[in-house]
Amino acid sequence: MSTKGAFRVECPHCGESFDADFWTVVRGDRDLDVKELILSGEFDILMCPKCETMFQHEEPFLYLDPPRELLVFVMPETYLEKKDEWVARMKADYEPLRATLASSHGVAGEPQFFFGLAPLTALLAGDRDREEETEVLEFMAREAGMQLLRIKPSAAREHDLPFLLPLPSGLKGRAAALSAVRELEKANDALPRLKKLGIALAALKGEDIPFLNK
Ligand SMILES: [Zn+2]
Repeated sequence: MSTKGAFRVECPHCGESFDADFWTVVRGDRDLDVKELILSGEFDILMCPKCETMFQHEEPFLYLDPPRELLVFVMPETYLEKKDEWVARMKADYEPLRATLASSHGVAGEPQFFFGLAPLTALLAGDRDREEETEVLEFMAREAGMQLLRIKPSAAREHDLPFLLPLPSGLKGRAAALSAVRELEKANDALPRLKKLGIALAALKGEDIPFLNK
């Protein structure tokens, strides 16, 4: 689950100093309301108890979403001045945690390092769009009696693909997937990521589809 820590902050308006709670770990796949705060720009917004001014205050936190292959150290934007130093420190902090995160949270792979909330917000907003398009694709594929396989989330982001790959029922391999994509495209040509999936499949050699989840 997500966890919080308390830090002392100072109001930029009246100078009052007070303790505030901050998320230190956010589980994007479980705490959808916290994820929503990031998407809406309300994450880490504080209110001064004395003058009631609202202001943003960033503290480092870890954003985890194992099914989506996300393990992101989010540091305050001001840390960018000493970027290399911070990345080295976070990597060193991560090493002893690697085994625990893998066994208890199913987190594998290499961490990403972001400075400020903007890159995380952009990534999550991109995923949300991808998810919406994937839902349309999934509905159409099921209507057509097709089966669906999971595309690796990291590959879906890298190549801007949907999260699912359609296949004619009972078939597998690249050529079959491409024919399923072409059939769905005929029914709906307003799905940009479906189009990119068709282009990616057409560019591959052989029957193997490397971007599928193992
Ligand atoms: Zn204040």
